[in-house]
Amino acid sequence: MRRRDFIKTCGAVVGGAALAGGFSAVAKAGAGPDAANIRNYHPDMTYRPHGLTGATVSALGLGMMRPPMKEDGKTPDADKFIDMARFAIDHGLNYIDTSYVYLGGESEKITGRALGNGYRDRVYLSSKSPWWLMERPEDFERYFDESRRRLNTDHIDFYQLHMLMHRGWKDKAVPFRLVEKINKLKDEGKISYAGFSFHDGLPLFKKIIAANPWDFCLVQHNLLDGEHEAGAYGLQYAAANGMGVSIMEPLRGGVLAIPPKEVVEIYENYPDRRSPVEWALDYLWNKPEVSVAVSGMSDMKQLRENLGYAKRARPGMLSAADMALLGKVARQYNSYPGQVPCTGCYNCIPCPKNVAIGYLFTIVNNQYRVTHDLARAHRLATASMSPVQRGDKPGACDGCGQCLAKCPQGIDIPAELKRIDRELELYKL
Ligand code: SF4
Ligand code: SF4
Repeated sequence: MRRRDFIKTCGAVVGGAALAGGFSAVAKAGAGPDAANIRNYHPDMTYRPHGLTGATVSALGLGMMRPPMKEDGKTPDADKFIDMARFAIDHGLNYIDTSYVYLGGESEKITGRALGNGYRDRVYLSSKSPWWLMERPEDFERYFDESRRRLNTDHIDFYQLHMLMHRGWKDKAVPFRLVEKINKLKDEGKISYAGFSFHDGLPLFKKIIAANPWDFCLVQHNLLDGEHEAGAYGLQYAAANGMGVSIMEPLRGGVLAIPPKEVVEIYENYPDRRSPVEWALDYLWNKPEVSVAVSGMSDMKQLRENLGYAKRARPGMLSAADMALLGKVARQYNSYPGQVPCTGCYNCIPCPKNVAIGYLFTIVNNQYRVTHDLARAHRLATASMSPVQRGDKPGACDGCGQCLAKCPQGIDIPAELKRIDRELELYKL
């Protein structure tokens, strides 16, 4: 049954019972998908259904956002990146994710080169449409065509409205009718599956799912994100509505790979020894509702290791004791001070000084608790954003106080922005 027909029959799933009952198009332990029907099958890779799309995707996907760098530390090493992508495909990976904006457009171009020599037909290619760059509705088609040109392909398999959040949904997706537009691309056969990537809270996530029979979504999730953004419930909710669930930031931008010493001790005291990266990926693959974990690997060593982990990936692969360990790890990460009690509801925007208040607090919080360094946290969180996404610097706040009455958490927003601005060496340069 196509997802559109399924939704027509059932309506959007809203009840906990449906979540508890699960859904047939999620990964099952030991189900053993039929190799003949899998694009780029390799016996050393594991594969999962991508919701009701009919696509079966590798448990590990390659994000084309964090390339290896040349010696200057600033320039992407395109040749190395291409070698990595092809090595991954030669070992059974079949999901490659990029976007119009990654690396200022270089990511799509490098991806297009990587998929030459017959590699294009061996993968599902995923890219994204940047609402925040659009000034008029027709820009949607213009960006799509430019992505296809850069990627050197007529067809994009998984195409998404990039980074939907309160502002993007309200100011661009709805008035520019972007949902109708992406559905039209699908009807015309220019894309196979329509989806969205997401950075906001659960209420908006459910609202967007109810607005369209989406094929899939790309959400941030990892062992620290149980309640962050769509959260663990959001993944189940999307899967129960028949959607494929792609995961971004499985390692929180890499910070889960290098844990603080207290977390290292927790791992070292556990009898089953795995690397922090393997634990982080296993946390996701344990969930049947997860289709593919998209990781931005930036060297061959990471890639080889992750391909090795993906070979063992199974839904239900973690024991109760393993889950208790990861709960302990998450509590340790969450115990670090210096966070803002912001829930990311975005009631406080727009700010007349263009400070992306709640978004700034959320990203700083998420990185701060693992880096203990606010300047580094902010750099990590905003490295791939355009100035428009990032908003103006926190020091632009003039203390007008318009946001104070709108914050349900009673946060002294101007004071927090001042503190953050003081700590951000980035803005003192
Ligand atoms: S209104 Fe308060 S809780 Fe909501 S996003 Fe803004 S600062 Fe965060
Ligand atoms: S107090 Fe600062 S952050 Fe709040 S609305 Fe005014 S300028 Fe924006």
